[in-house]
Amino acid sequence: MDLRVRALETLLTEKGYLETAAIDRIIQTYEERVGPRNGAQVVARAWSDPAFARWLAEDATAAISSMGFTGRQGEHMVAVFNTPAEHHMVVCTLCSCYPWPVLGLPPAWYKSAPYRSRTVREPRAVLAEFGVTLPESTPVRVWDSTAEVRYLVVPMRPADTEGWTPEQLAGLVTRDSMIGTGLALPACSGGAGARGTAAPAGSATPAKGTA
Ligand code: FE
Repeated sequence: MDLRVRALETLLTEKGYLETAAIDRIIQTYEERVGPRNGAQVVARAWSDPAFARWLAEDATAAISSMGFTGRQGEHMVAVFNTPAEHHMVVCTLCSCYPWPVLGLPPAWYKSAPYRSRTVREPRAVLAEFGVTLPESTPVRVWDSTAEVRYLVVPMRPADTEGWTPEQLAGLVTRDSMIGTGLALPACSGGAGARGTAAPAGSATPAKGTA
């Protein structure tokens, strides 16, 4: 896939349809400026500000835009909130639709065929491979992204974070927790989430199994 993309890029550049510098700028923007730290700020604010959380639940596109996170692949956002009564998980069964303005570019496993097919069939088994085991009493709801709608999971706020500032809270929000394949980090972790993806070890590998 990577090779085909590069070949296509070379061809389009040679024909003069594309400018390499422009492509590099776009990639650099989504790798460095845009990324899961944006989503982490949205989640931390929802945890800290009940009025904002309500707005996010009712009109995620507007609430997220109000924080300056707008752009391609984020035009129609829906926020889903994890609770002890329901765990949300996001997939794109068709391809790799993903909310770029809040999460940046999708990880390789999100685009993999096993993740896309198995998440719908056996979400609990996929979660287990990410190191997430939910109580049997917590149903898992899977949301299929489309070209129209992109989802942001708001993970549950970790215990013992009363009085934390939104900046501190954002440090507990990992990328995977906003896809639903992870949970927010515990308070004792010190909040590495904002700096890296800080995903559980299992998430580095695509979900195994047959497609
Ligand atoms: Fe897609």
